[in-house]
Amino acid sequence: MHKIKLIQGDITTIAVEAMVNAANSSLLGGGGVDGAIHRAGGPEILDECRKIKNRQGGCKTGDAVITQAGHLPADYVIHAVGPFWSGGNNHECELLRKTYQSCFDLISQYGIKSVSFPNISTGIYKFPKELAAQIALDVIKKSLAEHPEIQQVNICCFEPESYQIYLSMVSR
Ligand code: ADP
Repeated sequence: MHKIKLIQGDITTIAVEAMVNAANSSLLGGGGVDGAIHRAGGPEILDECRKIKNRQGGCKTGDAVITQAGHLPADYVIHAVGPFWSGGNNHECELLRKTYQSCFDLISQYGIKSVSFPNISTGIYKFPKELAAQIALDVIKKSLAEHPEIQQVNICCFEPESYQIYLSMVSR
């Protein structure tokens, strides 16, 4: 637990080795945290995303790809595609779990020691916030236990409501 840090604010302002983006399958940018990351990071990130899209046709739900971080205070951006919530009977929980796991696959592959996550899928993709937080914390705790080389995982909540949800979960 001591490696997990809850933060309230804008993920693009926090210095870290890898910043996770809640991207969409096109990898060509969008609103929410995706828009904020591309705005703050500059066009190099989108150029690299475009190359990945041309090479592999984008990124499937549950998967993640990695790029440079442009002007962001980070070395890498991990673009992860979470599921859209459409009622809960369409493998949404399984897919959100897979999305976080895909991030940790890249984190371990690249030897990354610090990472910030936004609350993937809980904005435009409408995943229930509390359920998303339970899934995120579960995967994060298991991955930290599996990969002791990871030093810090920031959970960056933009909305006060999400921050409170995580706060009550970690202090339980
Ligand atoms: P999704 O399509 O996966 O739902 P969104 O970007 O709409 O992605 O929302 C994911 C989460 O990111 C939401 O909780 C939203 O409030 C949050 N968010 C939006 N902007 C930022 C930001 N600059 N830093 C951190 N989190 C952000």
